[in-house]
Amino acid sequence: MQSSVVSIQLLVMSKTFIIFENATTYFCGVEDTFKHQALRKKLILHLKKSGIKDFKVLQAMEKIPRHFFFNSAFLQFAYDDVAFQIGEGQTISQPYTVARQTELLEVRKGDTILEIGTGSGYQAAVLSGLGATVVSIERNKKLHERAKNMLEELKCHVKCFYGDGYKGLPEFAPYDRIIVTAAAPYVPDNLLKQLKPRGILIIPVGKDNLQVMKKIRKIDENEYDIKDFGNFSFVPLLNETS
Ligand code: SAH
Repeated sequence: MQSSVVSIQLLVMSKTFIIFENATTYFCGVEDTFKHQALRKKLILHLKKSGIKDFKVLQAMEKIPRHFFFNSAFLQFAYDDVAFQIGEGQTISQPYTVARQTELLEVRKGDTILEIGTGSGYQAAVLSGLGATVVSIERNKKLHERAKNMLEELKCHVKCFYGDGYKGLPEFAPYDRIIVTAAAPYVPDNLLKQLKPRGILIIPVGKDNLQVMKKIRKIDENEYDIKDFGNFSFVPLLNETS
């Protein structure tokens, strides 16, 4: 009797171990454990409660391990709904901001999207997770290299470029969608020009600590529909590369 209880317990333990083992995946030596996945689910519930409605955006964010884009010393903060330092005086955007900008962008499978401000690469990975081809520009060399390597390891469809986002990237234009993930003092003309007719540009516009999220839909070369979507706080879109 005693021994069959023990063997049943061992069987249950080994099954539990298999479930946990299957739930863990590795990328670039970083583990995506059952615990990380549970924290991600909790974050997604929080985003839903905060008003994010687009199921596909929530699904993509649940799939992509945000902690992969963090310095290993700070992994425990990866699933808090806050912006966080990524080095070089820059930050990975708050999950709510990523979700809201992505939702406003109305991404369709197969879209070509230009991102200004690659930063950690997380926003680009989310866009790629929605089936878009992403072209992303970063003005800081170190951040550009790091994000490029990570996105390649994750096999995301993202082409990373080092350069000045104010100029956009005419080589791959026109774009279905353009997303700016730093505070722009004004809407750069180059970005409007590189947008397809009926394309959408999402851009936080304003100086200092507060910007207004603008959704700009291009009607044709000279006509735009512009709507505001609340206040946000981004690091500034800078003028020179470094
Ligand atoms: N999308 C990022 C968050 C970006 S933070 C993420 O998911 O992590 C804003 C980024 O914009 C910073 O990395 C900053 O270096 C970059 N940036 C600022 N000015 C820029 C410019 N003119 N061109 C390209 N990138 C710029």
